[in-house]
Amino acid sequence: MGENFAFFLPVMMASFGIAFLIICNWHVRAAAWWSAAFFSVAAGFSVPVGAAAMPGPWWSILADFLFATGFLLFSQALLERWRPSWMLPLRLAIWGGSISLSALASVRGDLPLELVASDFGCFLLISIPLVAARSHLHNPADRTLFAAAALVALDNFVRGYSVPFTLPNNGDFLTSEYAFLMQALACIFGMFLALSALATQVMDILARYQREAMVDPLSGLFNRRGFDSAIAGSRADGLPEGSLLVCDIDHFKAVNDEYGHALGDQVIKALANLLTQIAPPGAIAARFGGEEFVLFLPETNAARAAEIANMLREAFAQSAAQQLGQDRQLTASFGLSTMQSGDRSIHDTIARADEALYEAKARGRNRVCVRRALSSPQQQRMSMPRVVSA
Ligand code: GH3
Ligand code: MG
Ligand code: MG
Repeated sequence: MGENFAFFLPVMMASFGIAFLIICNWHVRAAAWWSAAFFSVAAGFSVPVGAAAMPGPWWSILADFLFATGFLLFSQALLERWRPSWMLPLRLAIWGGSISLSALASVRGDLPLELVASDFGCFLLISIPLVAARSHLHNPADRTLFAAAALVALDNFVRGYSVPFTLPNNGDFLTSEYAFLMQALACIFGMFLALSALATQVMDILARYQREAMVDPLSGLFNRRGFDSAIAGSRADGLPEGSLLVCDIDHFKAVNDEYGHALGDQVIKALANLLTQIAPPGAIAARFGGEEFVLFLPETNAARAAEIANMLREAFAQSAAQQLGQDRQLTASFGLSTMQSGDRSIHDTIARADEALYEAKARGRNRVCVRRALSSPQQQRMSMPRVVSA
């Protein structure tokens, strides 16, 4: 029976090793451990093929070494996700102890002891990450991976425990029930473990790209897409209530021209930092492009939003130039509006705040203007911006 698996298992395990090797290209650290683990186990399952071609006493010691090493690497791959380098000395001790004991048993011709030492070693090595994972099982991917590793642990435990019943008295390993069960279950649970690990890593990569697609790399704030998605997520039904600020640095082109693009970038970062420091919890800040920012203030009326805008305006005027060691005054203008029941989307509110910003620029910059909030589009057309502060 074992011969059926003789070629299949090494090829299957090595294929997973290759798949994880490919995933390493996306800079996923755990993928390297998974790859090494599957290659090691693939080599372990190849041993009977080598032993059949060239019989010798060292093959079983080599197989035990490769399986123990594979499971040490599995434990590292799993812990990389939950608690890297947790209990490393203990894991190394289990690995060394298991290899030594199974090698000693092999030299003495004690096959049952050799198998028990190997199986329990593997069981302990893959169980340690399961203990570490307890408080980290927040998403379905983690829970599936945990379940797959738990099945592999259980498989090793039950196999080690049942050696006296599954190994024939003549001790012939390859024709034993033990060998058949080992190979069949390794095939099922190994595949489950590999597919779960692959799925979690692919999901991690997708989540990373999704995060990157929503965040502006220069300021660390949301970009337009991230802002829209955060607004959509902030309220399950309809538009959230609150106020919205748009902000634009004054004469920024001149800053770039005088001091260079790199310092211009620093100015953008300085304003982004102020937005995150001064905005109240729950606020959603985004860089909409160039030197233009948007700040959504949930459950905030126009008067409070104007206070916040002025705090930002003053803080930027006072600190930005100083921070950057420039004499030139740096200021920003703000437009403010509140969400209205007639707004079809947040972009209606942004459009009104933009009009107020335009007015702030027209009136001399470094000020906050409010576009009076009106519910009907006709009234909106008639409304005039009001200067809150200069
Ligand atoms: P205003 O007071 O009317 O807003 O004048 P302004 O010069 O700030 O306005 P304008 O929109 O004409 O200039 C925006 C400048 O922002 C032009 C562009 O070179 C610069 N800019 C856009 N994106 C970046 C960036 O990522 N980094 C830097 N350093 N500059 C940028
Ligand atoms: Mg500007
Ligand atoms: Mg601009």
